[in-house]
Amino acid sequence: MRLTRPLGFASVMALFFAATFAVLTGSAAPKPAPSNPPYRNPKLSPEERSADLLKGMTLEEKATMLSGSGWTESAPIPRLGIPAIKMTDGPMGVRSWLGSSAITNAPNAVKIEATSFPAGIAMAATWDPALVQREAQAIAQEVKALGRDMILGPTVNINRQPLWGRNFEGYGEDPYLAGRLAVAYVRGVQGEHVIPSVKHFDANNQEYERHRIDETIDERTLHEIYLPAFQAAIQQAGAWTVMSAYNKINGVYCAESVPLLGDILRHQFGFKGFVVSDWGSTYSTAPTVNAGMDLEMPGGPPMQEWFARPKTQQAGNGAGWLTADKVVAAVKAGQISETTLNENVSHILRVIFLSGIFDHPHAAGSPLDTPAQRAIARQSSTEGIVLLKNDGNLLPLTISKIRSIAVIGPNAAVARTGGGGSSLVRPKYAIAPLEAIRERAGNSVEVKYARGAGMEGEDPAIDTPEARAKLLTEATETARKADAAVVVVGRYSGLESEGFDVKTMDLPAGQDDLIEAVEKANPRTIVVLNTGDPVTMGRWIAQTPALLDLWYGGQEGGRALASVLFGDANPSGKLPVSFPKHFEDSPAYGHYPGKDLKVDYAEGIYVGYRYFDTKNIEPQFPFGFGLSYTTFGYSHLRVTPGTIAADQPVEVSATVRNTGSRSGAEVVELYVHPGHTRIDRPAHELKGFRRVELKPGESQRVRFRLDHAAFSYWDPAAQAWTADPGQFEIQLGRSSRDIRLRAPVTLTQQRSPQQ
Ligand code: BGC
Repeated sequence: MRLTRPLGFASVMALFFAATFAVLTGSAAPKPAPSNPPYRNPKLSPEERSADLLKGMTLEEKATMLSGSGWTESAPIPRLGIPAIKMTDGPMGVRSWLGSSAITNAPNAVKIEATSFPAGIAMAATWDPALVQREAQAIAQEVKALGRDMILGPTVNINRQPLWGRNFEGYGEDPYLAGRLAVAYVRGVQGEHVIPSVKHFDANNQEYERHRIDETIDERTLHEIYLPAFQAAIQQAGAWTVMSAYNKINGVYCAESVPLLGDILRHQFGFKGFVVSDWGSTYSTAPTVNAGMDLEMPGGPPMQEWFARPKTQQAGNGAGWLTADKVVAAVKAGQISETTLNENVSHILRVIFLSGIFDHPHAAGSPLDTPAQRAIARQSSTEGIVLLKNDGNLLPLTISKIRSIAVIGPNAAVARTGGGGSSLVRPKYAIAPLEAIRERAGNSVEVKYARGAGMEGEDPAIDTPEARAKLLTEATETARKADAAVVVVGRYSGLESEGFDVKTMDLPAGQDDLIEAVEKANPRTIVVLNTGDPVTMGRWIAQTPALLDLWYGGQEGGRALASVLFGDANPSGKLPVSFPKHFEDSPAYGHYPGKDLKVDYAEGIYVGYRYFDTKNIEPQFPFGFGLSYTTFGYSHLRVTPGTIAADQPVEVSATVRNTGSRSGAEVVELYVHPGHTRIDRPAHELKGFRRVELKPGESQRVRFRLDHAAFSYWDPAAQAWTADPGQFEIQLGRSSRDIRLRAPVTLTQQRSPQQ
């Protein structure tokens, strides 16, 4: 039976617009769409469907698809049934997005309340890919519940230095860890038929002059540090889209870089999805299209309104280059071939078919912030908390043994759920540490609060010397009278945000004074950090008995903190970044933020622990570090075979035992130390990790399989990952500086497998 579809209002309007466009551009009107074309057949492959669809599209329709129709929507082609891809910002939940086709921060924006999950850095501190996958799945469910199709995340840029304003969004300093979590996030989102966007490709590692900065990065550093998380997301999870970054790399804007988008992304990594621009990151028509940047965002009237704002241009945004008229003109002038245009359009079409949004549009209406989603937010925040110090086992606090707690600090009574910018979620509720401690402590413990210090830049009324002195005195008095003091310090979304870098590694004004004063008043002081970056601690860390890193914990952050403080949960998070003692110790020091709009990544591959552990510089806390309320023993390391040739995998196993008296999770970290190599290599590199939950006395065998990637470095001369023959050491440990077991493995032959 032949199905004929009645022409709806949308189709009539589409024909009207197409005809008007044709008159304006002087091109022929499109042929009427066939009623039951092959591309509508869901049994055909996405490739077959896009090839068929492409055949029926006019030049103008194809050109129209290369830029958005609104702030967060791609252009639909109703005549052919091509839907708009409706996006939402992310990555740690659905941003307070404002509905269709308006500028995000417009005053009339429709506010959305969604579950606020912990920041990326907190998720990385869980070292738990399965949990990240569940979190991403929950986020994707909320995207669908709003009738949207795509989430702008995950952020997988590497934490190159402690002052990047968006360090909180990403997964830390190590490309292997970031890659594993990127894969988990992409799987979680795509499993729900929602489109993720792995961002920002590539090396968006500072906000300072992010639109103009030109980064000099050598090829080996790109491949070993700044590309692997993208590569993993593409090759292991089949990521459907990648977002190109604002910055230039080696003289070329990322959105028009043939080496990046063509050679690396498409050819080396085999990327088959589409590249979406960052919002305002395009600067040309033909070079951008020819490089393979498929979809320019934003587009349409919101883009024009936004781009006309002086501030938009002062910041260095570029937009409006891939509009249909410009693309058509470039094709007619021979600057873009129709074959290239077809390729770009088919990248977008393929994802529209593959994700299922062509056949099954997402219908809005399901509930958001469900109990199940909240539970994931809570578990994530709990698992991400890192115990950095616990002298004399001050923690956990035993409720039956204390009568009063002082809860102090500018981050104690306010829930600071995330950093600022496009990732900030507006939750229905958010639990601050004070509220959660009260909730958990119950009636038997008196919980007293003192603000202690104003938050720098937030409330000028309390930012005077007199007001500060008064707050400090109140806090000291409150702490003195209590059995224990919890000081919650840190930043907030106005100090740590997309759009600008953090000014200093020091805590905001007055907070070091506050910690010192409270520690003097109460020897049982627990300091809690509520930031996304490492901070300097030199003034107080020696006297601090207990220190926890909460990061930005999302809407359930307060409850997660309370559960760790009172021992309902064992802290099992590990640092996904090294904490330098001062900024001067950071490997990028002297090579950031650049001069004359150029920044040289002169530290090369020596980022994070690769630098601290190779150059023997002691950090404040090393990468992978995190204490626990219980203890773990490592034994019986087995590496087989001990000698390997060519592409043989290596099996590694060891026994981990909970030797303490509480249940808890341990993250076993596997590093590979190169023996003799032809070239300079870091002291060791993370190549595996396992998170295991163990009851007291329980043990488990953890197993790893190492392939060539675990032994290789990027050899620019060979344009391949290469491993030199010689002896390597397999190291298993609790942090990059706490190696518990070691065993050699010998590689007998040069290995240059395909990437
Ligand atoms: C950010 C992206 C974000 C986009 C849309 C940009 O400024 O860099 O991460 O997804 O805006 O809001």
